[in-house]
Amino acid sequence: MINEIQARPALILVADDEPTNRSLIQRRLERAGYQVLTAENGSEAVEKTLASLPDLVILDVMMPIMDGLEACRRIKDDETTRDVPVIFLSARDETEVKVSGLSLGANDYISKPFKAEELLARVDVAMRLKQERDNLRQSAEEARAHAELAQERAVTDALTGLLNRYGLQRALAREHAEARRYERPLACLMIDLDDFKKINDTYGHSAGDTALQQVATILTEVVRRSDMVFRYGGEEFLVLLPETDLEGAASLAEKIRESASARHFGDGEHIFKLTLSAGAANLRDDESGNDMIARADLALYHAKERGRNRVESAPYA
Ligand code: GH3
Ligand code: MG
Ligand code: MG
Repeated sequence: MINEIQARPALILVADDEPTNRSLIQRRLERAGYQVLTAENGSEAVEKTLASLPDLVILDVMMPIMDGLEACRRIKDDETTRDVPVIFLSARDETEVKVSGLSLGANDYISKPFKAEELLARVDVAMRLKQERDNLRQSAEEARAHAELAQERAVTDALTGLLNRYGLQRALAREHAEARRYERPLACLMIDLDDFKKINDTYGHSAGDTALQQVATILTEVVRRSDMVFRYGGEEFLVLLPETDLEGAASLAEKIRESASARHFGDGEHIFKLTLSAGAANLRDDESGNDMIARADLALYHAKERGRNRVESAPYA
């Protein structure tokens, strides 16, 4: 039998103090395609289980040094080996021994003397169950990784790599709570590119996309490490500024405005100038994060009205 996940013959540890038993079981299992490790007592079985992490352990109950029940208890107590299935093999056919073996977490119990066919059939069942559980676990892990990736994509803007509006809402809730809790200032900038429609119309949408990426780069380069930049909408960006007052926010906006207006944008085909306008706002008492953003947006509107390529600060009620 081949273990599908590890793509190698399944490994079985056989622990029995009787050499003839051991080699008989070993031969039968190897003939059935399993790889076999052996141990002469419980203590050796625990050690080898930990060292080799077999796919199944077959434990004789009565063995010197450490019996099978104690070995099973130790295997099931150790986080590394807990999931390794265990089958007991014993001449002791009493119900209470079987029950205590199974209650220790063993999967099955085979009474000696047994027919080789029965042993193989029970081993197959145990291996199949383990395989199914491993597969389920792997799919669960894949599903989790998939969901994580999907979530990351859902909050990231594909063009600029910045967080999007959904990402903003999360960060805003967190920063708003922190600002309130520690009575620290919080500010934001709403930034919108000037006459961007003309840029697209004149140089093409692809050059426009490149310019958006270049603006995103300017923003991430200018801000502090603790500041956060978001693509708020088409050609609108939002910068969230923890521990920053209105004056600090406005001066950062001015720095951003200047560095955009001082450089050229575009790709190899088209080079053009581009300006932006910004509205700054800081968090007031009893105001939500989104209220602050709405006031920054209003300040931006005034910047546009007053001729673009400029910064305005709230308060605008
Ligand atoms: P204003 O100075 O008033 O902001 O003028 P504007 O032309 O920038 O404003 P308007 O809102 O009229 O146009 C925004 C333009 O931004 C229109 C839209 O095609 C463009 N745009 C939005 N998202 C993208 C994008 O992802 N890529 C490109 N290339 N253009 C975009
Ligand atoms: Mg615009
Ligand atoms: Mg706009």
